[in-house]
Amino acid sequence: LYLKFIQNDKVEAINQVAASLAHEVRNPLTTVLGFLKLIRANAQSREKIERFIDISIEEIHRTEQILSDYLSMNKPLGVGRQQIDLISHLKTVVEVMTPYATMHNVSLQADFPAAVVMVSGNSTEMKQLIMNFLKNAIEACIEVSNAQVSISLKILPGQVQFEVRDNGVGMNTEQLSRLGSIYYSTKSTGTGLGLTFSYQAIRSMQGTVKAQSEPGSGTVFTISLPLA
Ligand code: ADP
Ligand code: MG
Repeated sequence: LYLKFIQNDKVEAINQVAASLAHEVRNPLTTVLGFLKLIRANAQSREKIERFIDISIEEIHRTEQILSDYLSMNKPLGVGRQQIDLISHLKTVVEVMTPYATMHNVSLQADFPAAVVMVSGNSTEMKQLIMNFLKNAIEACIEVSNAQVSISLKILPGQVQFEVRDNGVGMNTEQLSRLGSIYYSTKSTGTGLGLTFSYQAIRSMQGTVKAQSEPGSGTVFTISLPLA
């Protein structure tokens, strides 16, 4: 009976994940399908068609993001951990995220010391977690004029600290307290999985994460990791 209970519990959890995944992937699919039908009908102006294609591309990117968020949740953390160069990982992710920032009229600034900073971690997880913070910072700025996201790094005795700062919407105390909880999202198109993954990945590296925020003026995330 006990075994059956455990199995039912697992099936229940899998069903829940499958249901929310299906729900989230269906929305962008419906959008893209609608646009393809409009384009096929051949009754739209050139500009409109281009706009439909741009939105469709964005929606497909979003679907990829949703799938990768879900997949990273199902992997054990820290497998294949090795010494990795943190600054080169930060630089790579900044480069990858720059078009996303530009597309949303957000200026993305990076300021790193000329140093090699080695930490112990899994390279893919490290990139994914940095990307989650940058992506959230950019998304927090979408409605803001003169939007700025900056990322910087400080070397301290025995540890390294990097900071992701934005002048976006900010969060109140209640919202701050929910960061990292699974499925917590205030976005209509969010998964609420990005920070859950990031917080767990940071903890698995014996690191810490701190968030300071002010509604209407912005947010600073400070991630501390032990030096390898
Ligand atoms: P998602 O981005 O899919 O909503 P995340 O786990 O990445 O999920 O983030 C959870 C929530 O935390 C967001 O929906 C948002 O409310 C809040 N949040 C995260 N980063 C920021 C930020 N830089 N500024 C304001 N709110 C943020
Ligand atoms: Mg996110």
